[in-house]
Amino acid sequence: MSNQIKILLASPRGFCAGVDRAIEIVEKTLKKFGSPVYVRHEIVHNKQVVENLKNLGVIFIEELNEIKDISRPVIFSAHGVPKTVPKEAENKKIFYIDATCPLVTKVHKESERHHKNGYQTILVGHRGHPEVIGTMGQLPEGSIKLIETEKDAQSLRVNEFNKPVAYVTQTTLSVDDTKNIIEILKEKFPNIKSSIKEDICYATTNRQHAVKKIASNCDMFFVIGSENSSNSKRLVEVARKSGCSKSELFDFSKKLPINEIIKYKTIGLTSGASAPEGLIRNFISEIKKHCNVSIEEIITTKEKVTFKLPRSLN
Ligand code: SF4
Repeated sequence: MSNQIKILLASPRGFCAGVDRAIEIVEKTLKKFGSPVYVRHEIVHNKQVVENLKNLGVIFIEELNEIKDISRPVIFSAHGVPKTVPKEAENKKIFYIDATCPLVTKVHKESERHHKNGYQTILVGHRGHPEVIGTMGQLPEGSIKLIETEKDAQSLRVNEFNKPVAYVTQTTLSVDDTKNIIEILKEKFPNIKSSIKEDICYATTNRQHAVKKIASNCDMFFVIGSENSSNSKRLVEVARKSGCSKSELFDFSKKLPINEIIKYKTIGLTSGASAPEGLIRNFISEIKKHCNVSIEEIITTKEKVTFKLPRSLN
């Protein structure tokens, strides 16, 4: 093998505390209550994680009316659910465990607080993403105005709302894009209220920062993550904007473009918050079959965040 490739490995990368907790909740529920256990929506947006859990006895569903045996527990995914979902479970007497990430719950609580205090709430997020559906479902229908882009923010009219205005955001957005949207909102509504603590979570922020640090030194950049993982897709955008135009999401559903990779000297590598570290190892092993690889890990910060499990699993 004559080719020599350097991999710049971003750190932090991969699983965040919310994903760790959600997977542990499913594993502990299986241990405590046996199988099958239902999980509403993919517990985290990663195919390999979902497949592993299916093999352990998890049945994934999208809505509670798909549950065939209501004596079995159901777990709500890390993305959070509208208030109607636990209500439906209670009405049907289905035992549920909520694996919503505490940082998503924080955004739910902020939205409720703004609403209770008489504010019109604007949510910055991606239409149709389960987290956005969950956050919008914390308030009565029509109470939250969803915007996705700078253009959406620009087209809001100052006199559109006859009450003071507040905003919250999805937790997995691009830090830079969201900053621009918020600047527009602040110009339009100088008294706009924000959350007490930043809504974009620490894991999203740290992973994007790590990518920014190395992208301009890379000829090609790979983000290991699934197509439906919001934070993974944002990492690809960040890598492109930070100087590596050849940045791609890779989920192992297709073959590694090895013929292209071996043309380059430096490859950037990271993984989204829902992608297991084993996939990074698999990626590196695959490249090692074709060239000599040296790895340099660039650590921009160390994470120590952990979340407690729900009391029902203690
Ligand atoms: S990405 Fe952030 S909000 Fe989402 S599960 Fe991880 S820590 Fe929680």
